[in-house]
Amino acid sequence: MSILGRLRDSLSRTKQQIVGRFEDIIRQADDRGRSHPVDVDTLEALEELLISADIGVDATARITAAVKARSSTGEGLRDLVKREIRGIFEAVDQPAPTGRPTVTLVVGVNGTGKTTTVGKLAKLLKREGQTPLICAADTFRAAAVEQLEIWAARAGVGVVRAREGADPAAVVYDAISSGLAKGCDPILIDTAGRLHTRVNLMNELDKIRRVAAREVPGAPHQVLLVLDATVGQNGLTQAREFTGVAGVNGIVLTKLDGTAKGGVAVAIAHDLKLPIRYAGVGEGIDDLVPFDAREYVDGLFEQKW
Ligand code: GDP
Repeated sequence: MSILGRLRDSLSRTKQQIVGRFEDIIRQADDRGRSHPVDVDTLEALEELLISADIGVDATARITAAVKARSSTGEGLRDLVKREIRGIFEAVDQPAPTGRPTVTLVVGVNGTGKTTTVGKLAKLLKREGQTPLICAADTFRAAAVEQLEIWAARAGVGVVRAREGADPAAVVYDAISSGLAKGCDPILIDTAGRLHTRVNLMNELDKIRRVAAREVPGAPHQVLLVLDATVGQNGLTQAREFTGVAGVNGIVLTKLDGTAKGGVAVAIAHDLKLPIRYAGVGEGIDDLVPFDAREYVDGLFEQKW
């Protein structure tokens, strides 16, 4: 299956929940005639459906308002909904910043799939012809570092680690030096997911950023926040904490395959104004795919998939 097909496929649980009702709404709207303004019942049903897919209150309000405003243009309801949602993703779309080498910080709460994502990302980028190096900067969890080494071996990439309790910023310095010496690019840094206080976490991430910036101009170029799609809307609160602290400029949405709350991708783009770079679609090393808004929207709202 194509990489993009896998994104569509991972949405099957979300789609199962909404597809029947969506087709009913479309049928009702079409029965009334496409050139008529959409009626209140249809709008309410659509609103309920979007909320139930975890698309969020604000994004849902935007979508239904657009449907209402444009419903007498003759464009079908399906196309109106799809276009509006694509627009939400396009509004925050921007090329991922790069450097020489590109330094990518991966942040997020423990359990979201952060370690797994770093391994999968290394594999994906290696397949694209890059030579990633992984940096294990989560020095609080020895088990996480070991886990990361297993993933690095699976991906066939190197990993720089320090002993438990070492200063994470020092490990980042070592990894960047080693990456520069060996010509590795990108450098993927796995960071701690939890410290005693938010201030500690902020200080640690700050220090890592400063060390990286000193070694490579513009680093860290990407700060990817890993969010667990199964958490749905609640993940947004968590995300706001991190975006404020860490200079997040992209999202990785994991476990899309395991949830009926896959609509949360729309809420993330709409509310956080951040692009979703990758989606986790399973537990294997090849189960990370670039996020493609068109495929995502088709995957949720086209009948044939
Ligand atoms: P961390 O604590 O954030 O580093 O999380 P881990 O990388 O250890 O992952 C936590 C659990 O989530 C593991 O059981 C992973 O296999 C699982 N996981 C991670 N990403 C995905 C995904 O995209 N889909 C599914 N189904 N499971 C995932």
